[in-house]
Amino acid sequence: MKEKYTPHEIETKWQQHWSDAKTFSTEVNRQRPEYYVLEMFPYPSGNLHMGHVRNYSIGDVVARFKAMQGYNVLHPMGWDAFGMPAENAAIKHGIHPASWTWDNIANMRRQQQQLGLSYDWDREVATCHPDYYKWTQWLFQLFYERGLAYKKKAAVNWCNDCNTVLANEQVVNGQCWRCDSIVVKKELEQWFFKITEYADRLLSDLGELKGWPER
Ligand SMILES: [Zn+2]
Repeated sequence: MKEKYTPHEIETKWQQHWSDAKTFSTEVNRQRPEYYVLEMFPYPSGNLHMGHVRNYSIGDVVARFKAMQGYNVLHPMGWDAFGMPAENAAIKHGIHPASWTWDNIANMRRQQQQLGLSYDWDREVATCHPDYYKWTQWLFQLFYERGLAYKKKAAVNWCNDCNTVLANEQVVNGQCWRCDSIVVKKELEQWFFKITEYADRLLSDLGELKGWPER
């Protein structure tokens, strides 16, 4: 046995073995108890940071522990890959948001695989992929048909130089975080979800959550 731990040698070997043997792929099996481990889908910003590593390592420990206890563990991964951050990054780097997003996903997937996380990669999803967002569109249509999605004008943070809406956290001291222009309020037609329709039901159903602290 070697005295020294050589991660590139040892980890690469076993990661390849796990990949070839599909060690972490999950099949439906009603005979075994099931366990679902979902950490969170990262936003594909380009690189994993230590916060990701901590979060996914903890989930990975739980998934492996439950698998060793005999559970049929479903441990998937995906990408929260739609929206304004991708558009803003594309503007900043002068590239198409799709290529920026898919390149980042490829790199972050490589990093996760290098960490040896026990994901079932056959179940990977990306919210920017048509296979995924056809379902969010289907849900939206249901909301719309039932009067739970509606349009109205509302004031948003607007940067005249970037020609885009800014989230509250992208406004720093009244200025755009990217170009320092003064942010203005602009009336824009927007979509809203009628979440207030369910406020009372949500509140009263809290009583059904057992074992949660009162606060
Ligand atoms: Zn700006």
